Amino acid sequence: MDQTLVNLAFYSSTAIIAAIVVVIYIRRREKQSRITDEKISKAVQEGLHEPVSLHPYVDLNRCLGTGACVEACPEKDILGMRKGKAAVINASRCIGHGACFHACPTEAITLRIGTEKRGVDLPHISKTFETNIPGIFIAGELGGMGLIRNATEQGRQAAENIAGVLKKNENAEYDLVIVGAGPAGIAASLAAKRHGMRFLLLEQDTLGGAVFTYPRSKVIMTSAMDLPLEGKIRLSETNKGVLLKLWQNIISRHSIPLRENCKVESISKDNDVFSLSTSDNQQFTSSYVLLAIGRRGSPRKLNIPGENLEKVAYRLLEPEAITNKNIMVVGGGDSAIESALLLAEENHVIISYRNEVFSRVKPANGSALNKALASGKLEVMFRTNLIKIEDICVTLTSEADGHEIQLSNDLVFIFAGGELPTQFLEKTGIKITRKFGETIMKH
Ligand SMILES: Cc1cc2nc3c(=O)[nH]c(=O)nc-3n(C[C@H](O)[C@H](O)[C@H](O)COP(=O)(O)OP(=O)(O)OC[C@H]3O[C@@H](n4cnc5c(N)ncnc54)[C@H](O)[C@@H]3O)c2cc1C
Ligand code: SF4
Repeated sequence: MDQTLVNLAFYSSTAIIAAIVVVIYIRRREKQSRITDEKISKAVQEGLHEPVSLHPYVDLNRCLGTGACVEACPEKDILGMRKGKAAVINASRCIGHGACFHACPTEAITLRIGTEKRGVDLPHISKTFETNIPGIFIAGELGGMGLIRNATEQGRQAAENIAGVLKKNENAEYDLVIVGAGPAGIAASLAAKRHGMRFLLLEQDTLGGAVFTYPRSKVIMTSAMDLPLEGKIRLSETNKGVLLKLWQNIISRHSIPLRENCKVESISKDNDVFSLSTSDNQQFTSSYVLLAIGRRGSPRKLNIPGENLEKVAYRLLEPEAITNKNIMVVGGGDSAIESALLLAEENHVIISYRNEVFSRVKPANGSALNKALASGKLEVMFRTNLIKIEDICVTLTSEADGHEIQLSNDLVFIFAGGELPTQFLEKTGIKITRKFGETIMKH
């Protein structure tokens, strides 16, 4: 009898413990789902839920809910747990390095480009990276394969493929002009140097490509890269400063002919020779062209006097380093509003916008802007156009009556939209296809 009671007590306490564990598990799962649902609604509101390029796709039939992908992803809130399975939250922030893909023990994650609703335009490229226009090649993120290591590898291979078919043409100044000095363009120029080509590297901005635009504190994840003339570069986790320094040293050690602040505006072909026209009215002729221009596009310029002054920028890199300045932000889209709000924390900021209302900003930005305006943190000058930039001031005209307004100024940020890389490709005659959720990385 005593033994029966002991057994009963044992089984009951085991059942109670099991029930407690199950309740804790269910509560935890519900809490995770609630948090993920809230984050998804916020992401939808802010326009970050829909992917813009590479992103993880979760096969719910395979997902066992280990959460390994969420743990593995170093970017914030791209994946979360919902109803015991992985769910995508801020898909547009995915940078596509596939840490989630490798971490998943049940191979439930694939990386896709585009979705059923939103297609992503990708150029046609052959196995050798050549486009439909013989002589024009594409490498790096522009072709759909992001990441520093992948872009480096493609840049190297594309330049080597060109070296393999190159016939010297004395009518062209160069054998190869490489457009874009990001990871793909840097690797391609080292390969071109190794193969003894006459070549030039053109960059609309500054050496480093997308890496130059990373926040200073961002941890860069990359695997070993094989750089021509340098060999294996073993980096795993690094930062922007280290990587940029490394590239600057390599470019100068190998005397790579790099021209910064030189945007290629158009490419035409005449008698087997390409002619590239740049924003500073230069013209270069070349037998081959390698486009390594990434997917971020080119900022639109206003073409006004003083726009080439150092105080003018087309993106905001480190707002925390800017204090006590008179700043003019030009534009009425989300980039302009977000930058103005960040700068207004420590500076006097005026937004100049040519229309009379901000009609195309995300709701969250609109309400943050209204708060900042109400508290006097920043000012907006609607229906104005910036017409001149000088060292210590700027001049605007009013659309209402045409009168000129001069304001003291230390810095100007212009967010006037830009040309997408696909527009540049179309203009050049390169064929593009829209991909709707094509799998790029699968087991
Ligand atoms: C915020 C963020 C974080 C990331 N983190 C990582 C990470 O941790 N690890 C990782 O591996 N990858 C990361 N990536 C992705 C990685 O940066 C890109 O995949 C990689 O830089 C692509 O290299 P690319 O050379 O193809 O193009 P890009 O780096 O974009 O370089 C293209 C260059 O071409 C120039 N250009 C464009 N048009 C013209 C023109 N008309 N004339 C002249 N020049 C032109 C541009 O100014 C740019 O410098 C991240 C990306 C972002 C945005
Ligand atoms: S690919 Fe990288 S950034 Fe994108 S979700 Fe997976 S781990 Fe995160």
